[in-house]
Amino acid sequence: MKALVIEGPDIVEVKDVEEPKVGPQDVLIKVKMVGIHPQDYYMTKDLTVQGHKIHPIPHIPGEEIAGVVERVGDQVKSLKKGDRVIVYHRIHDGTCDMCILGNEQLCRNGGRFGINANGGLAEYIAVPEKNVIKISEDISWEIAASLPASALTPYHALNKAGLKAGEYLAVFGASGNTGMFAIQLGKIFGGIVIAVSRKDRPWLKEFGVDYLVNLDTVEEEVKEITKGKMVDVVIDSVGSATWNKSLKIVSTLGRWVTFGALTGGEFKEEPMQVFPIYLYRFERTLIGVRGGKKSELHTLVNLANKLKVKIWKKFKLDEAPKALEAVVSPERDGRVFVEVT
Ligand SMILES: [Zn+2]
Repeated sequence: MKALVIEGPDIVEVKDVEEPKVGPQDVLIKVKMVGIHPQDYYMTKDLTVQGHKIHPIPHIPGEEIAGVVERVGDQVKSLKKGDRVIVYHRIHDGTCDMCILGNEQLCRNGGRFGINANGGLAEYIAVPEKNVIKISEDISWEIAASLPASALTPYHALNKAGLKAGEYLAVFGASGNTGMFAIQLGKIFGGIVIAVSRKDRPWLKEFGVDYLVNLDTVEEEVKEITKGKMVDVVIDSVGSATWNKSLKIVSTLGRWVTFGALTGGEFKEEPMQVFPIYLYRFERTLIGVRGGKKSELHTLVNLANKLKVKIWKKFKLDEAPKALEAVVSPERDGRVFVEVT
């Protein structure tokens, strides 16, 4: 089969590789669509993601996968050839305390397809039955390939932050992969949604946001919108470029949530600085989120018809190296996908 293969630093090519083996509990998926993330590009540089070496090398990236079941192992009961599916890309043992508690994203022995095992930028991928979720005919492949990470992560974030109807939600990086779903899900949760973006993104209005705010003037604008109360839930996965601004707009009893640091700050740059009084005097909460639970992906699938995705560019598998370049392009305005078959 054809696959995009990372052979070493900056050595990326589409080539023929062996089809994956299908164990008794595995499902072989004919990949239709893969949603591309900046990490898919960055891992080609130093073969790491968040400090962890990708595995195996040579490596097939691609963690946000949708496709059709091609074949199932002897012990697979819930799926059959032809089923439309998405992959819950968190590798999990199902037996550790975190898995038992329903937090597979925190599995003690876990990882991710596309990082700690081969991913979906290939004609086929084999994954355990427990990682596969069926989807209905009326869900587009682009939405399907946005559910397992881009939409699931903010969905988990909103669940953890407990956004309630009528509360204000501010999303930094609102036009990004996760941002565009954070704003839509925020509306579904009943929030009043403030999209914060550095660039002019008028399409965010069509995605349901109530207020479009510029990053440079966010504090003043939010003060005006909320009549000085500020924001109940703030989602900021942009990183060190924005977190000093986003921390300033959290209300009394407010919750600030992060699930990444795209612009830096994860390890090397200046850490986020918060004085304890900022938290206790106003009963504010800082929340960290890592992907989402499998149970949440099951319920998120039911909302898929209410979600839209802004597509910037789609590439064929043969052009997949270009897709990795596109996802980090400063001109990017929407999602980048690889349409595999
Ligand atoms: Zn586990």
